[in-house]
Amino acid sequence: MPIEIDQSTEEGLADRNWEWGSALPVVIFRRIQEPGGEMRYVWLSQAAQRLFGDKGALQALPGVLAAVHWADREQLAKAIADSAQRLETSQESFRAISPSGEVIWLDGAAKPERRDAGGIVWQGMWFDVSEGKRVHQRLDLILGHASDAIILIDEAGVMQMVNAAVCEMFGYETDELVGRPVAMLMNRHDQERHAGYINRYLISGQAMKLGQGARELMARRKDGGQFPLDLAVNEVRSDGKLYFIGIGRDVSSRKATEARLEFLAYHDVLTGLSNLTKFRADFDRLLVERKESGQPLNLLSLGIDGFSFINSTLGHHVGDSVLKAIALRLQTLAGPEALVARVGGDRFFVLLPDVAPKRLISDRVERLLRGMKEPLSAEEQEFELSGSIGVAVWPRDGADVDSMIRHAEAAHEQAKSLGPGSVQIFTKELGEKGAKTLGLQSRIRRAIENQEFIAYYQPQVDLQSGAIVGMEALVRWFTPEGPIPPVEFIPIAEEFGLIDPISEVVVMAVCRQLKEWKAKGIACVPVAVNISWRQFRNPRRLLASLDEALSATGIDPALLEIELTESSAMQDIEQAIATIRMLNERGLSCAIDDFGTGYSSLSALKRFPIQKLKVDRSFVIDLDRDANDAAIVNAIIAMAHALKLKVVAEGVETESHLRFLRELGCDTLQGYLFSPPVAPEKVEGFLKEGKRLEA
Ligand code: C2E
Ligand code: CA
Ligand code: CA
Repeated sequence: MPIEIDQSTEEGLADRNWEWGSALPVVIFRRIQEPGGEMRYVWLSQAAQRLFGDKGALQALPGVLAAVHWADREQLAKAIADSAQRLETSQESFRAISPSGEVIWLDGAAKPERRDAGGIVWQGMWFDVSEGKRVHQRLDLILGHASDAIILIDEAGVMQMVNAAVCEMFGYETDELVGRPVAMLMNRHDQERHAGYINRYLISGQAMKLGQGARELMARRKDGGQFPLDLAVNEVRSDGKLYFIGIGRDVSSRKATEARLEFLAYHDVLTGLSNLTKFRADFDRLLVERKESGQPLNLLSLGIDGFSFINSTLGHHVGDSVLKAIALRLQTLAGPEALVARVGGDRFFVLLPDVAPKRLISDRVERLLRGMKEPLSAEEQEFELSGSIGVAVWPRDGADVDSMIRHAEAAHEQAKSLGPGSVQIFTKELGEKGAKTLGLQSRIRRAIENQEFIAYYQPQVDLQSGAIVGMEALVRWFTPEGPIPPVEFIPIAEEFGLIDPISEVVVMAVCRQLKEWKAKGIACVPVAVNISWRQFRNPRRLLASLDEALSATGIDPALLEIELTESSAMQDIEQAIATIRMLNERGLSCAIDDFGTGYSSLSALKRFPIQKLKVDRSFVIDLDRDANDAAIVNAIIAMAHALKLKVVAEGVETESHLRFLRELGCDTLQGYLFSPPVAPEKVEGFLKEGKRLEA
């Protein structure tokens, strides 16, 4: 039933014509303004009750007005007043608050007429448009807060709507944009492309080109500044018209990050040279370009001789400065058409295109080697360095980037073994050696799994008493094809990260052996195990495996000795000292192996908390023939004794060696003269029978 507020007047009477409207979500009303200005609603359709509450609240105008949202009251009152004055339809759009506090959006109109009785009567309707309004409101909220620029463009490329982000991004006000062509937001190049698309559309109706997925263009701000914009354009149809919604994102900061990331991904941060990834890509591109012509490309693998020595003795910052200086020098020497990359530590790749094979070595490579020998200053110090180079030539020495790199590196390894400042060109024999390395690597892996590595023991005897006072454990690998010596597989195991498991096998075997001898009542002597420089770099794993072996067998840690070569100790002195300390804390003693081959300074040696020096075999071999070697061994022994270290001479093969060593006051000897490394059962026999060195 309609609400009949005022039945006393003719206008207030329920009219059949109004009845149909009572069930609709529409408020149909009749409003009267008395000649005195008083206003009241004499009839409201049923829907009003839901909106404004019961009859009581609707008794008079204030009743309805009270239901109008305070923010809209003034504007509604004005619309009605204007309508009354001009007798024109009033557009009435306002929010009402329902009895439950809900906001209802009403939108409608009322037509005024003069009343015979004086005053004005309106007949009107308010539609409940809340749903649509809310959608809009949400949309406004989203558009207003979106950080992406959102633009609605019509089919002529004219902007119909822009959100707040557009204004912020481009520096315009909304009304400077709406109604104007979207091209004003693009740089000239994109403007032209855009105009082309619009034209094509206008002529052919083909519009899809603008849209479809994200693309990037250069956007132009009001101040003329440009920035990269990631833009996705989608077609929408509304009211049979075609629109485009463009959603754009300012990607300049992302671009900058990307550029930085890309630089980092493809360059070496220290020297700014390309890294291996970029070098490979560039090399590959060149190879593709040259597939037809087959014009040679020369790949040089280059290293700085003794670089690790600089790093370890003078510190990494000096090493870094040297690398930077060398990088600069290489670029200059190699020339503008060459590609130069730093591919790790002190290793560089240089790709020299367009050099005739004849001139390659005599001219270009020699020039690089000479250049590297020029004195160099870094961190206020002067250096005289040298480099070694391996060369592989495409297409002769390899068909693709991988094999070229492998072969240049194989040649480089060979060059290094030839001594400082050497060059080696790749040969087929080197290639075969490389292939062997790879084959050996997988065999080592299998051998670890199959527990093929075992420990042999070489006794060390006291020069005074002739008694066995220690042993060195040396790994052995017997295969059906015969034994493979450690010098062949240890470097490969080191290179491929397989040295840890091998050493762990040896350490565990030694500890078990010591436990067994103890159980058998055999007088034990300390046993030395060799630890690779690789393991010293990762002391955590080393210590963990030593701890495990010690606790699993319960042997006295004083029976275990660690041998570390001089060159590995010198690679990172601080790290080595710290690791040796931790070993000492566990009761393990340490010896420096192969002493005399590294470049230890006495001051560095003094700082190592070690107990023993092992004079390298190479000095012992010629002890009796080369006065220099004798002098060196003499000096080493004197120095070691001054530092309260015991001296072991390795590789003692003859009586003559023995005599010399006695004379020089050496403490212990190890070598074929007394015994080669032997199987555990055999050395057990030595211990049991108390084998001695004949006096
Ligand atoms: P190294 O530590 O200097 O070991 C001494 C090497 O000299 C051993 O070679 C030994 O057999 C050999 N040798 C001993 N007495 C004489 C002699 O009178 N004359 C000659 N000419 N040689 C003698 P081996 O066993 O072939 O080991 C070579 C190298 O391999 C070792 O040099 C060591 O650096 C490494 N190595 C051996 N076993 C292990 C291991 O278990 N772990 C690690 N990390 N390296 C090991
Ligand atoms: Ca050793
Ligand atoms: Ca040695």
